[in-house]
Amino acid sequence: MRFVVILVLLLTGCASTTLNTESEVDRNQFLLLPEYMALSMGSDAYRQEIKKAEENNDLNVDEDQVLRVRKIAYRIIDQVHVFRDDASDWNWEVNVQQSEQVNAYCMPGGKIMVYSGFIEKTDATDDELAAMIGHEVAHALREHGRERMSTAFVQQVGLIGFAAYLSNRDDSGLSKQAALQGAALGATLFFALPNSREQEREADKIGLELAARAGYNPMAAVSLWRKMDALSDAKIPEFLSTHPSNENRIEDISEDAKKINHLYLENKIN
Ligand SMILES: [Zn+2]
Repeated sequence: MRFVVILVLLLTGCASTTLNTESEVDRNQFLLLPEYMALSMGSDAYRQEIKKAEENNDLNVDEDQVLRVRKIAYRIIDQVHVFRDDASDWNWEVNVQQSEQVNAYCMPGGKIMVYSGFIEKTDATDDELAAMIGHEVAHALREHGRERMSTAFVQQVGLIGFAAYLSNRDDSGLSKQAALQGAALGATLFFALPNSREQEREADKIGLELAARAGYNPMAAVSLWRKMDALSDAKIPEFLSTHPSNENRIEDISEDAKKINHLYLENKIN
């Protein structure tokens, strides 16, 4: 009986996570995994990454670089309220990890990590950094990680097993064992599962709007992804494994950037 109730609740959990804005992203989403679980998995997985980086003396090593990344990221974060009412109150974190990897991510609930390899190998301008951070923040606002985890759960354990997993809680919340499994699974799923093409397109559109509203030139996304493309010829598997790209992508970004350029002109700093 408990399973049935949970299944009914789960199956009704499909809606759009963000408000419909100028970027016109309003797809209904497959969100079986409850939001609090995605948030707790994201937060635990982020803690693990921070701990590892600290142990290796790789966390926030270059002070100027950290200040620069945080300044840009928090201007983007100042605009998230446009896309959803609750996101300004998320417990946002912005850190830089020393790494050769050309990558960045934003885990569920606003946990941002930028790798030094991305900044250095692309020689990113402030506008290009804003484009990258905007794209990653957009994934978090749209809860793409939660969507990917929902799909993976159902594929792996089926709906019944998923309901059983969820019902494995005591009254004070998740049992300790389930929470531990959740953190490990969250990290695995977050890093292993690629975003779908549709999710990439949404993150591109919302990312452009976020950057423009924060006063950064949205056309920088075009130069950024050209640089990324050039690097990908020399292999940047880590980024492309979670952010699938295609030939038309830069053209689409360029069109979308023109459409919201007026937001940049209204908000630009200089
Ligand atoms: Zn992406």
